[in-house]
Amino acid sequence: MGLTADELRTSLEVIAAWRSDPDAAHPCPRCSAPGLALADRSARPYAEWYHLACAGCGLDETIHIPLGSPTLGDAD
Ligand SMILES: [Zn+2]
Repeated sequence: MGLTADELRTSLEVIAAWRSDPDAAHPCPRCSAPGLALADRSARPYAEWYHLACAGCGLDETIHIPLGSPTLGDAD
């Protein structure tokens, strides 16, 4: 399971495109079928989480994008 490096890279491109135009139909990073389902489940300002799902190939992945620096705040 999981995404390959190429799929992850494509996923990040799709997420960037989706954020700039969320109403457009975006292609699946695995099978390139249009109509990828994207959901922003981010916990800002700590991290961004995006859920990607494709009915065509069964893709069901969550992409984690860390934000900021882990040294911020009051970690033990
Ligand atoms: Zn797909």
